[in-house]
Amino acid sequence: MAEFDFIVVGAGSAGCVLANRLTENGKYTVLLLEAGGSDLNFWIWMPIGYGKTFYRKSVNWMYLSEPCPELNDRVSYWPRGKVMGGSSSINAMVYIRGQKEDFEDWKAMGNPGWGWDGVLPYFKMSETNDRGGDGYRGGEGPVHVSTMDRDLHPTCQDFIRAGEELQFAHNPDFNGATQEGVGTYQNTAKDGMRMSTARAYIRPARKRPNLAIEKHALTTRILFEGKRAAGVAYSQHGMMREARARREVIVSAGAVNSPQLLQLSGVGPTDLLRQKGIDVVHPSEGVGRNLQDHLAIDYLFRSRVPTLNDQLYPWYGKLWHGLRYVLTRRGPLSLGVNQAGGFVRGRPGEERPNIQLFYSPVSYTKAPPGKRPLMNPDPFSGFLLGAQPTRPTSRGHLEIRSADPFEPPAIHPNYMSTDHDIDEMLQCSQLMRRFAEAPAMARLIECEIAPGPQVQTDEDMIEDCRQRAGTVFHPVSTCKMGPNPGEDVVDSRLRVYGLEGLRVADASIFPTLTSGNTNAPAIMVGEKAAAIILEDIKD
Ligand SMILES: Cc1cc2nc3c(=O)[nH]c(=O)nc-3n(C[C@H](O)[C@H](O)[C@H](O)COP(=O)(O)OP(=O)(O)OC[C@H]3O[C@@H](n4cnc5c(N)ncnc54)[C@H](O)[C@@H]3O)c2cc1C
Repeated sequence: MAEFDFIVVGAGSAGCVLANRLTENGKYTVLLLEAGGSDLNFWIWMPIGYGKTFYRKSVNWMYLSEPCPELNDRVSYWPRGKVMGGSSSINAMVYIRGQKEDFEDWKAMGNPGWGWDGVLPYFKMSETNDRGGDGYRGGEGPVHVSTMDRDLHPTCQDFIRAGEELQFAHNPDFNGATQEGVGTYQNTAKDGMRMSTARAYIRPARKRPNLAIEKHALTTRILFEGKRAAGVAYSQHGMMREARARREVIVSAGAVNSPQLLQLSGVGPTDLLRQKGIDVVHPSEGVGRNLQDHLAIDYLFRSRVPTLNDQLYPWYGKLWHGLRYVLTRRGPLSLGVNQAGGFVRGRPGEERPNIQLFYSPVSYTKAPPGKRPLMNPDPFSGFLLGAQPTRPTSRGHLEIRSADPFEPPAIHPNYMSTDHDIDEMLQCSQLMRRFAEAPAMARLIECEIAPGPQVQTDEDMIEDCRQRAGTVFHPVSTCKMGPNPGEDVVDSRLRVYGLEGLRVADASIFPTLTSGNTNAPAIMVGEKAAAIILEDIKD
């Protein structure tokens, strides 16, 4: 049986970082196992290809949640990357770290080393900001972060002016001294092409003799010798294989699959494991619990001025912009869909920004699976305003349906299940209307298409959220880090409680959801996990 010092399960945002950093000094061998295949795919590398990979089975797990009672029993569609780079290969590329206070909260919850001072060096280490490094931003890291201003749609400036009219300051850098304010987003991209963690961390490392990468390798079980993780079993091209880990198995399969793999391997809630006929290796009630996610509401407007719809809807527009992209890597196809936005307080009394905003100068009617809405915008001038509460208090869970590793887990997001979250969804809706009435935006708007003028009262707005709000694909915390072995899954050094030689390192360990998009913090977790592991193995 093949033997390695470390086995990393999952080549996603965090897993790719670990594979690179643990092989960097040449002392250790690493096996990186990825259930998906290569990321050499035009639709992955071209930013607007997001619309294509969104529903593409060859690179996407395409999960569906269970019906959510508070969303009128609607099922949520949960894309997750199943490809080298994981979700960083199919995401919308917005680069946001979160608020300093998020990490101070993590520390205060009993996680020494995870306060702002403890995580900032790893954010910086991972990043090359195209504006250069400084006290906050990185200048020499693998992940390139790009300012898109020269190609932004001109109406982004109207959005920012509207924010200023509402007394929200213009913030030129959401990842600098403060996150608060309105402005334009930066993307994880370089030269008009997506910067996934496969591109940033694996491409430079893949020829190292001490790094073995196995694609289309679905890890089905962690193999234990007593309480020690000794290796893994995986399925590849219809064959079952095994590999041994001399030192550690590191699970980086993401917020859906990391808890799934632990449960399949006998680490999870005792009753659940018994029910599914799985031998309990170690009871851990927290595995799959504490699920948190961002839920957003969009307002759709018909515009008086041309938007990206006018450029991308006609066939000749697609052709022109396609050619322009191929020849120059410029133009709207080189950008993500969320061009401007911000972080604001939904009400004056809020302690810190509690709402994230998105402005997309393009509109599309969300299509069922199989359709590719972003490449086919609406046939009229239109744009979207979106908003989401940054720190929801609703908690869901996920669990395996059976002992079959190929069967997707049952996901219960439990959105909008607290009064706090219902109130913040209302704040989001009210804020969208305030933006629409601000003079700089009002002059662009011909009419509001969704939800439309019939939605007026607070009750109408809340019902509209139950009817239309959707995930923005940031599930976290299903293998939560914390000080209580009874409830938490890993300690502050990411070791799974009660077991040896086993860590979890990805977005599933976040103690709470960060205020913003989750790719940058997942990469930071990968960086910090690698540093912790190298420190812990003392030879
Ligand atoms: C559609 C979409 C849009 C998003 N937009 C943004 C955005 O604009 N900005 C942002 O910051 N964040 C965004 N996110 C969220 C962000 O990308 C994720 O939070 C982040 O990538 C999570 O990193 P991770 O390492 O935890 O998991 P992932 O990156 O999902 O990696 C997990 C990896 O493990 C592999 N794997 C799973 N199970 C197994 C197994 N059993 N065996 C082997 N391999 C396995 C998976 O195939 C995958 O490659 C978006 C996500 C999606 C899906």
